[in-house]
Amino acid sequence: MKKVIISVLLLCCTNAFAQSNKPTPVFYEIFVRSFADGDGDGIGDINGITQKLDYLKQLGIGGLWLTPFHPSPTYHKYDVMDYYAIDPEYGTIADFKNLLAQAHARNIKVVMDLVVNHTSSRHPWFINACDGKAPYANYYVWSDTAKAKGWYNNLKNPQQKYYGFFWEQMPDLNFDNPEVENEVLKIASFWLAAGVDGFRLDAAQHIYEPHEPEKNMRWWNKFHKHVKQINPDAFIIGEVWNKDSLVAAYLKDGMDACFNFDLSAAILRAVSTSTPGDFIQKLISMHALYRSYNPNYADAIFITNHDQDRYASILNNNIPQMKQAIAILFTLPGIPFLYYGEEIGMLGKFPDELRREPFLWGLQSAYNTRWEKAVHTTSATVIPLDKQMNDDKSLFSYYRLWLKLRNDYPFLSRGKLVTHTTTYDGCIAFELLDKQQQYLIIHRLAPGNLQLKLPKNATVLYAQQATKSGNKFQLSAGSVLIIEIK
Ligand code: CA
Repeated sequence: MKKVIISVLLLCCTNAFAQSNKPTPVFYEIFVRSFADGDGDGIGDINGITQKLDYLKQLGIGGLWLTPFHPSPTYHKYDVMDYYAIDPEYGTIADFKNLLAQAHARNIKVVMDLVVNHTSSRHPWFINACDGKAPYANYYVWSDTAKAKGWYNNLKNPQQKYYGFFWEQMPDLNFDNPEVENEVLKIASFWLAAGVDGFRLDAAQHIYEPHEPEKNMRWWNKFHKHVKQINPDAFIIGEVWNKDSLVAAYLKDGMDACFNFDLSAAILRAVSTSTPGDFIQKLISMHALYRSYNPNYADAIFITNHDQDRYASILNNNIPQMKQAIAILFTLPGIPFLYYGEEIGMLGKFPDELRREPFLWGLQSAYNTRWEKAVHTTSATVIPLDKQMNDDKSLFSYYRLWLKLRNDYPFLSRGKLVTHTTTYDGCIAFELLDKQQQYLIIHRLAPGNLQLKLPKNATVLYAQQATKSGNKFQLSAGSVLIIEIK
């Protein structure tokens, strides 16, 4: 009997421990080619990242998402020719293992992009498949009759067409073939053994086309099981660029987190129109939906990523609106993802290359990459990092402040989002519940002043641009309050 009681207690404690220590790092997406050049050839590389880990640590980053680094014919490398190697222009496996060791020594996790919806048309599997060679012929999706968009001629056999959802040079893998599944599981095992902390699953909803969530999830459940058997703590985050009702299904025994694209749009809408609308109500119902599929899911929150115009460009470089977007992002529960360069206000608009311009370390910095001529982010339009670091009024300093708040107050990451009883006109206001504590967060969006009385037993943890007189605060556009209610 005693034994039973002890194990029950242990079980409770284990769960409570997991809850209270839920890792809550802020992630940073690195477009490898553009971030930091470690060897002077003008192209970003693995060693460049390693040499900038102290910078990232200083910024408050606890996790990295690296865009693909495998051998590939394209600059972005989202079409892989060899899943077991590093593209020589980025470095070697030894460089990568060194990056992992150095990152882990600084308590920074490293998640890699896994691009398995398709390969490069130059992958040996596809070259063999076009020649009809076993077993590779069945690695891809073929048809003799298809005429629809996305089907391309096999140049070796004109009777036959292959499927490529994104592009002629990105043939889709055939996940009805168990050998393909095993190849992908083997790739995951290889990189987990090398020490990566997880995977960002590129194009996760496109495994089966047209969009078939149930078939996609059959595969991702299998992938999830495999990865967690090797490392239960490995982090699996999915790119499912779709509405919340379709994203939710991917959170059940598939992904630990999915990127919240709807939230990205909602943040930009709220700050650019200065109106809260139904921002919080929508997010609360989204969370309820996601929780019904996976109680332990994490919301991967972000403003923009490498496939979108940079938000500084979307907001026309309006610094007060940008600061408001940052403050909103960092007060919402989940795991925030910064896209490299956001911390210095980099600009960038379609086409994609111009959303991925060289990071501006300094006017003369040897780390600046030169693989493309920057159009939007130049020293004439954006203040380089080295200058911003020494200016406590810079956007960089504002980011550092918010990352510090985020890291100092774990309730911001793990709190349960609920509505607050009082509504404040022109404000995004909400509560976060964490460990029987109640926190109130208020962002003033609308122009004009708002005077508000603090709730009873309130302790102000952080006030930005808010004038206090007695137990009243005067807020204006851009004000933020973080309050603990006892
Ligand atoms: Ca280089």
